[in-house]
Amino acid sequence: MTNDGCVFCGIARGHVAASVVHEDDRVVAFMDLSPVTPGHVLVVPKSHAEGLVDLPDDLGVRVWEVGHRVGRALRLSGLRCEGVTLFLADGEAAFQEIFHVHLHVFPRFKGDSFRVDANWRVHERRVLDEAALAVRGGLAALDARAGGSDSPVQAESA
Ligand SMILES: [Zn+2]
Repeated sequence: MTNDGCVFCGIARGHVAASVVHEDDRVVAFMDLSPVTPGHVLVVPKSHAEGLVDLPDDLGVRVWEVGHRVGRALRLSGLRCEGVTLFLADGEAAFQEIFHVHLHVFPRFKGDSFRVDANWRVHERRVLDEAALAVRGGLAALDARAGGSDSPVQAESA
């Protein structure tokens, strides 16, 4: 399914120009118009999904497979690549700007401009355990929607 106003759907259909590096029946990967570094690729499912909530599991797997492969390819590309970042922004608060799921894959090197600004303070175990409980609740809710659990998550308290 495609969305008429969506630029990534337009690229997926071949109606909008893009510098494509990979295409198959489910996923297209192409150069970001505003690259963080040269070689910045976006991996995009061909069917429209705004974010992780409406992206089918199997399509998410395919997006990751292609992103993984592109990440390995960057190191063989001849472009400056001392490391690789894979980055997916889901939702406006996460700085998603185009509301069709996309995985960023881009080369990194010392002195590049990419920054993740955060408070990296270590939290107490009690606080981590509370958050883990909430996340496990979310996983259980997903399982309940799907009608069963395929991989129960065990708590770790290392
Ligand atoms: Zn779309």
